[in-house]
Amino acid sequence: MSDNSIKKEYTVLLAGNPNVGKSTVFNALTGMKQHTGNWAGKTVSTAEGSYKYGSSQFRLLDLPGTYSLNASSPDELAALNAIENVKYDCIAVVIDATSIERNLNLVLQILQITNKVAVCVNLADEAEKQHINIDYDELSLQLGVPVIKTAARKKQGLKKLTEEISNVASGKTKTYTIIRKYDDKTEKSIKVVSDALLDIPNCEKRRMAIHILERKQDILYDERLKKAVTEARTLIDGDISDILAKARVGQCEEIYKLCVKRESGEYRRRDRKLDKILTSRLFGIPVMLLLFALIFYITIVGANYPSESLSALFSFLGEKITFLADLIGTPLWLKGLLIDGVYTTLSNVISVMLPPMAIFFPLFTILEDLGYLPRVAFNLDSVFCKAGTNGKQGLTMLMGFGCNACGVTGCRIIDGENERKIAVLTNNFSPCNGRFPTLIAIISMFFVGMFPIAVQSAVSAFILVCIVLLSILISLLISFILSKTILKSGGKSFLMELPPYRIPQIGKTIVRSLLDRTVFVLARAVLVAIPAGAIIWILANIHIGSGTIISNITAFLDPFAKIMGLDGAILTGFILGFPANEIVLPTTLMIYLSNGTMTDYGSLSQLHDILISNGWTIKTAVCTLIFTLMHFPCSTTFITIKKETGSIKWAILSLILPTVCGIICCMAANLLFDILI
Ligand code: GDP
Repeated sequence: MSDNSIKKEYTVLLAGNPNVGKSTVFNALTGMKQHTGNWAGKTVSTAEGSYKYGSSQFRLLDLPGTYSLNASSPDELAALNAIENVKYDCIAVVIDATSIERNLNLVLQILQITNKVAVCVNLADEAEKQHINIDYDELSLQLGVPVIKTAARKKQGLKKLTEEISNVASGKTKTYTIIRKYDDKTEKSIKVVSDALLDIPNCEKRRMAIHILERKQDILYDERLKKAVTEARTLIDGDISDILAKARVGQCEEIYKLCVKRESGEYRRRDRKLDKILTSRLFGIPVMLLLFALIFYITIVGANYPSESLSALFSFLGEKITFLADLIGTPLWLKGLLIDGVYTTLSNVISVMLPPMAIFFPLFTILEDLGYLPRVAFNLDSVFCKAGTNGKQGLTMLMGFGCNACGVTGCRIIDGENERKIAVLTNNFSPCNGRFPTLIAIISMFFVGMFPIAVQSAVSAFILVCIVLLSILISLLISFILSKTILKSGGKSFLMELPPYRIPQIGKTIVRSLLDRTVFVLARAVLVAIPAGAIIWILANIHIGSGTIISNITAFLDPFAKIMGLDGAILTGFILGFPANEIVLPTTLMIYLSNGTMTDYGSLSQLHDILISNGWTIKTAVCTLIFTLMHFPCSTTFITIKKETGSIKWAILSLILPTVCGIICCMAANLLFDILI
């Protein structure tokens, strides 16, 4: 081949099971910073990046992590769609060196569709630690494609990987298809389908026929092929897709036995010991609660001081900006709009949100990197199944504690249309990061005052854990009701292989979670807070009749809010907080002080005084906590739900469902207080 004929741009698909280090490989090759973590279903959409090798450019598409290509969940469907429809030059399949047998299933499935494949055996360092010896040459011989050993986290073997990908993509390395024989009947039905395949090269017909026969769901084939598939199926007693899938599992076992030797003994002994405690019936859930309590405690204690300092800094800067604005003669309305509206909202959002987030996210990511989160999902699995839904919902619920929009997107890992919808609709019951500061502030002001100062943070953490537990219970209850009514589903336990525990790279984790998550969520909140601040200021400063627009709304809502144990200002705060949950409390305060400006509250005790003087009691605090936990999702989550369900009907239901629950619970609490006190 002359140099001129060498293609200069190649497309490479990156496939693999979840949690095999695919994102790490993707990031290392492209220099991008996709979030990596240690649990299934994290890469939920296709990311794209590129890199150069030699004089060629490589476009790299990261497919969602899947165990198979049976197209039973949206992730599998997305991966299969990409493999069937994208014009690629090579598929790099990343597999886990410590569980080759299971991972080979996907490799063999992909090899059924194409042999433009390079297999990257990642986590080779882990395998060595566990005394797993892999014969890479034999594996390559058995698969008919190049096999490359890598330890992506340490950046080992990646050069060789790019070289082999380039060789396969350019055709320099000739790969081949290994033909395996099935029993006579199966062979016959494969032949019926392969004879009906007209427009593909002869050498590819057989494997394509196997691929088609294995699919449980038919795609739109032409009539001739459809007839052939039906005929092929009648030749077999039983389900041909099951027979082929079983045969492949047998092949995986054969190849594994040929290529991998495991020195028995210490293998994952430490992991098994840890799992005996962390996933045991007796200790699993209590340990989980303790760990979360610890994280909340550290977050509450740690966030107090930086929050106050940030708030002081912003009010100092605010004074200077006001001084400057006066100096240059800024019109009063513009000064109000920009400083009292936009700047104050922004500074409130940042000083309230940033410190807890900057502590909570890295801690959460460390748990994730340790491999603990899949254990949490495992512990919750049976409970979720009893609630008639999918065990994977536990994982998406955990994602929701970070951000509901992320949790909703994460629901793509859930098989079954109805189970997925239930998970999407109930995700908002997990209090997200935008709501934690409000919860923490109310708890600290109203519920811990009677305890000695030294233990107040611990008591706050304990109450927060109870609230989180309550949110899980409500999620389960609503899931159960939905699964028995409009979204009938049976409750499927999900088979989950628990990944090995890994020692997280703490420094990297902190930097990454600060950059990936904290800055991302904060940037979104800031973007929302700017227009929201301006709008709220306008509403609070335009007079209609005897009051401002906002005071009219507040007065209008007040009677209804009172039945819920709240007041008009709080309810208006929630409604105006639709763009971002974190502005609910600052907006409420602004209404109380009715000076048309969002207030900085330098300290919690100052905030407490303002609330008390506006009639807050323990009852108001409890009802506000309840409504914070259960009300409509924020605008970002709402848009995400609309996108993920593809229907405005479900998106609207996602607004109504938690709000109605919240209203009912608030009314009940209000009534209870009135009766008891
Ligand atoms: P993905 O789900 O396949 O995208 O996997 P990630 O890239 O998120 O990796 C999962 C976990 O494995 C992360 O904690 C990574 O840091 C870790 N990891 C990735 N590659 C390696 C490796 O080669 N060796 C070791 N020891 N850990 C790795």
